[in-house]
Amino acid sequence: MAHVQPVNILLVDDRSENLVALASILENPEHNLVTAHSGTEALKCLLKQDFAVILMDVQMPGLDGFETAEMIRGRERSQSTPIIFLTALDHHDGGMFRGYSVGAVDFLFKPLIPEVLRSKVAVFVELFKKSEEIQQQAAVLEERVHERTAALTMANTALVAEIRERQRAEQKVRFLAEATTILTETLDYEHTLDNLTRLAVPYIADLCSVYISGPDGIPCQLAVHHPDPAKVEQAREIDRLYPASLEMPDGPTRAIMTGMPALIPEMTEEALVGITRNAEHLTALRSLGFTSLMIVPLCTRVQAIGVLVCASIESGRRYAPTDLEFAQELASRAALAVDNALLYREAQRALEIRDDFLSVAAHELKTPIAAIVGHVQLLQRWSAREGTLTERHQRALRTINDQAARLTRLIHAVLDISRLQVGQLSIERMPLDLNSLARRVVDETAQTLERHTIVLPELSSPLMVEGDELRLEQVLQNLLQNAVKYSPAGGTIHVDMSEDGDTVSISVSDQGIGIPAAALDRLYTRFYRADNVDGTHIGGMGVGLYVVKEIVSLHGGAIEVQSTEGQGSTFTVRLPRDLPAVEAETTYNGGTSHGGCVD
Ligand code: ADP
Repeated sequence: MAHVQPVNILLVDDRSENLVALASILENPEHNLVTAHSGTEALKCLLKQDFAVILMDVQMPGLDGFETAEMIRGRERSQSTPIIFLTALDHHDGGMFRGYSVGAVDFLFKPLIPEVLRSKVAVFVELFKKSEEIQQQAAVLEERVHERTAALTMANTALVAEIRERQRAEQKVRFLAEATTILTETLDYEHTLDNLTRLAVPYIADLCSVYISGPDGIPCQLAVHHPDPAKVEQAREIDRLYPASLEMPDGPTRAIMTGMPALIPEMTEEALVGITRNAEHLTALRSLGFTSLMIVPLCTRVQAIGVLVCASIESGRRYAPTDLEFAQELASRAALAVDNALLYREAQRALEIRDDFLSVAAHELKTPIAAIVGHVQLLQRWSAREGTLTERHQRALRTINDQAARLTRLIHAVLDISRLQVGQLSIERMPLDLNSLARRVVDETAQTLERHTIVLPELSSPLMVEGDELRLEQVLQNLLQNAVKYSPAGGTIHVDMSEDGDTVSISVSDQGIGIPAAALDRLYTRFYRADNVDGTHIGGMGVGLYVVKEIVSLHGGAIEVQSTEGQGSTFTVRLPRDLPAVEAETTYNGGTSHGGCVD
């Protein structure tokens, strides 16, 4: 930067004519010449301003040049101001040494040679200008450094704030993701509510409770959490003493009714009064020591089903609108989970009602069917004795009998399913000969067949197992009836039995329609029927194999199938000789409804 100000030069001499002479030599617009007639005057000038150079007469009355120079050097501000002594002394005078010792940078001898004086002064003026320039540049630089540092500090503070904000946001997202996982991991209603309060503490609350709206619209406190069980009990007690009511809606009730959240950043006395309904309620709630409160409705798409209450106590935290926003996000996820759990609970109840109905209806149906069968048999016996019924009427009676038997089997299947649903299907333990059981079932089935033949190889010895004879008979009947049913064109059905160590096997093979490969894994699922029976007019409900598999499992055995679509199927049941202890312990508690098979 160019130096525009004139440079100060101090001329010190006790004689005015000398000062005038000096001034005339050094006169220049770039110079600001300041004159002093004595050492003392010179010192005063130095108090006021800085000089690029001092031209000092050595011999002056009072303070001489050297003494003045000594004092100039003694002051910090002027200690490096160059001093040129003007003297009439000889070069070899010892005074020169003294001059240098007190800080002279040069000596000029009188009479002065103007060019020498000007050039010497010019050097110091230039030096002064340069150092001034450097100082100015340094100041500018320093200012820039300051500015930059300030800008960097600001940027840094903003960055730290942003990072914190991001971390907080990430933490919130992580929390909400985890919360969603935890909330959806169970469909158990109470468990879901409990999870919700545990999630909130201590992340957004010191004490958290959930109210769910009852059928009358009144919210009921169903879950509370605080690390101190005594505090939980205290909160429950307050709720017991001052339950929500529609007539006097306070915090939770109001939130459910309006669907609007409430934020109380500072729990002042006035705020407490606003959520309590009388002096006792106020005292009780005050004793919990809330410092801040959020009441957030749990809203499904249709309505508010409850509220989430987050209270700050020990942490002294004051909730802000951002906390309310976050609590609302948690509440919306929780509402979904709670709604799912509620729906699941309702569905479970509906299933229970359905199963109860099925069970009752099946039992009720058995009586009239037993009466129909009994009277048909009576008629048949009467007709055989009297010979009065025509062949056509006898056929009609047989059809009634067959259909009643079919209805009975269907009722048994329905009963079995409802028993399986409630875990009441069990078996009785007894030793039995599977060989003779199979033979009896095959004989009975064979009598009803016209287009099918059943082949059962003779076994020389009994095939003893421990199990429930009536239930195993049901298994065999079911497999044989399926073999017949799914071979509509007729054919041979093979029943084979074998033993291998502690396991006995019985298999039923047919040459019927077979089973598509994709259906093989699903045959034992309730109400499942393979695609290839569609459009065949082969009736069925898809429950026989489901019950068969359960019975075989209760015996500790397994069932498997091999089949090729269009060629036939083989079902094989493997049973352990001895019934495993656990299965044997349970006794069948379903009365006499054994032997049910489904057509
Ligand atoms: P339902 O026969 O009343 O439909 P099941 O539980 O006994 O019910 O059988 C389930 C399904 O398995 C049947 O619908 C049928 O698709 C298939 N299935 C069972 N046994 C056979 C078989 N022997 N041949 C071909 N398909 C069979």
